[in-house]
Formats: sequence, structure tokens, C-alpha cells
Amino acid sequence: MPNEERNDLNDLKPSRQGSSNAAAAALFVQDLAVYYPAGRGKFVHAVDGVSFRLHSGETLGLVGESGCGKTTLGRAILGLAPVTRGTILFEGRDISTFKGEALKEHRRHIQTVFQDPYGSLDPLMTIEQILSEPLKIHHLCSGRKERSEKIAALLHSVGLDPELAKRYPHEFSGGQRQRIGIARALSLDPRVIVCDEPVSALDVSIQAQVVNLLMDIQEAQGISYLFISHDLAVVQHICHRIAVMYLGRIVEQGSTQDIHDQPLHPYTKALLDAVPSLEKSSGARKIFLSGEIPSPVDPPAGCHFHPRCPFATERCRREAPVPTEVSPGHTVTCHLCSPEKSRSL
Ligand code: SF4
Repeated sequence: MPNEERNDLNDLKPSRQGSSNAAAAALFVQDLAVYYPAGRGKFVHAVDGVSFRLHSGETLGLVGESGCGKTTLGRAILGLAPVTRGTILFEGRDISTFKGEALKEHRRHIQTVFQDPYGSLDPLMTIEQILSEPLKIHHLCSGRKERSEKIAALLHSVGLDPELAKRYPHEFSGGQRQRIGIARALSLDPRVIVCDEPVSALDVSIQAQVVNLLMDIQEAQGISYLFISHDLAVVQHICHRIAVMYLGRIVEQGSTQDIHDQPLHPYTKALLDAVPSLEKSSGARKIFLSGEIPSPVDPPAGCHFHPRCPFATERCRREAPVPTEVSPGHTVTCHLCSPEKSRSL
């Protein structure tokens, strides 16, 4: 197995604070819902009315517990999950209208990096064959020579020696396989990459390398990332903005600084309080989650979070809160949060 330089999370590049400068929306998602039939006339409400923008050259983090719908949301954007309701605009165009060549072209521009670098590469194909496949399907190279040059450039861009192209996936470490997965996503010159837990299957000592690589690629190529993760520490580091999901809905979104310094939704606070920290406690009351996330087949009435929320009132049990912008770009979905009461919790 080729050697891989090891480092740890202390080797991460400086984290990103505040929003990116980019203003144009690469993706605009409005009231998106994905329901799956669950039998007896019931449905799994996997995604239930989600709205957000992903700006060009920006990284938006999507966080929440397992089963909150973040992966289904990513799959809907990739065209891999059926959309029940709502709109997805890619660079201003409704992706539901794409058919034939337009759909193929769209798929070229939105790529993905999967969680599992072991399972996402065909073990019977060499790296050269894996990277050739999308180039052939989309007719991006005029011949074998141009394809080989493109593959060498791709491997070089993700920090791998082009000489390794003739090897098979099992000859690489986990971090190197994820680099190959990133090279495959980059092969079609995408404008958006959905990164679905791209480092969570990797050894902690390798995570920083992959995170730094993604940040370098974004700075060089201006790609937008939808970065799906349950790891708030990594998300806070790489993302310009963060959206917090609970049971199919976004409960809070804002700049990374807003979410880190002034989380307002009780669920966001609970997620942050669960992150181990060596920093001295501020003395503020901590929120610890108890119980399981309720079933998305029969979500609780009113605020979906009320069975686990220490601040729940009668109103929370019967009336669903609506997203409220408490400060520019910082939106919270909670009855207790408004621009006037944003510090009340
Ligand atoms: Fe808690 Fe009520 Fe706010 Fe929901 S609306 S998060 S139950 S306080």
C-alpha cells in the first residue's frame, strides 16, 4: 500500500468565518418535500418543506442527527430521490423541467462525494478506468491521449501521483480512496458538489487532509459545496454557512459565526453542547437531548421538536413555528425566537 502522510485535525487550514463574498445562487431550494409511501396510506416525511440558497463558491453545511433527512435532501438535489413538492433551481433553472440531454448536462454539473470510500469505487476497475468512465459518457475528451492527460491532471489535483492510475482501489488507503472519489467528482468540471459525510468514515488523522483538499479545490475552482455531516466541529471549520435539520425541516440557518457564537434554536444549542470541548464553560445552562428522534411517518404535531424540548409550551404542541429572520441571514424556527426576543433562551 502506498504510504500516506498522516496528520490530525490540528493540521487543518484556518477555519472560515462569516459568509462568502459570492452573491449569485448556484442552488435555490424552495419548500422542498420528499415523502415515501409507508403502507396503509401513511408516508415517511423524509424532507418536509425545506428552503435554502447555496451561493456560488460557498460551502453550506447541513447538520443534524441520523434520520433527520439531510442525506435524502442531498439525493433529491442530485435527482436520485423523488420530489413530492417544491422547487429546486440550479443556476436559475428548474431541474424538474430537465429531460434527455438537458438532464444529462445537469447531472454533469452537480456531482457527489460519497461517505464510504471503500464501497464507492468498483474493486474490479483500475483508477484509470474509474476516472475514464464519466469522461467517456459525457464525451469530454477527443481521444485516449487527451483522456490520459486529463486523468493525470485530476490525480495531481487531489495530491496523488499519476503513476498510480494503473492500480486497483484495494491498493490504496481510506484517505487516498476518498481523494480518488473527489477526483471522480471533479472529472466533469462540476459547479456544485454534494459532499455526503465525506470524512466521517476516515481515520481522524486523515480527515484534516481531505478537508484541506476540499477547501483548496474550492478556492482554485470556485465550486459550491453542500456539506452534509453530523460532525459539527468539521462543519464549523469548512462551512461559510450552516443549516440545522430536525425531522425533515430546517430549524435554524445562518453564518457559521452566528451558529457558533449565538445559536438560538434549542436543538442547535443541544447539538453544540454535545460537542466535547476543552474550552472553559461559559456557565450558561446546557441543553442535553434525551429520547430518540420521533418517527418521520407520524411526526409530532405543532413543533416537531416539542417532545424533546425543555422550553416547550402548550402553543408548541399545537402550532408549528414558522422561520423568522432574527438578524440579517440568521433564521430560526421557534416560537420563542423573534428579532426582539433573540436572546431570550
Ligand atoms: Fe421548543 Fe417550542 Fe421552540 Fe419548538 S417552538 S423549539 S418546542 S420552544
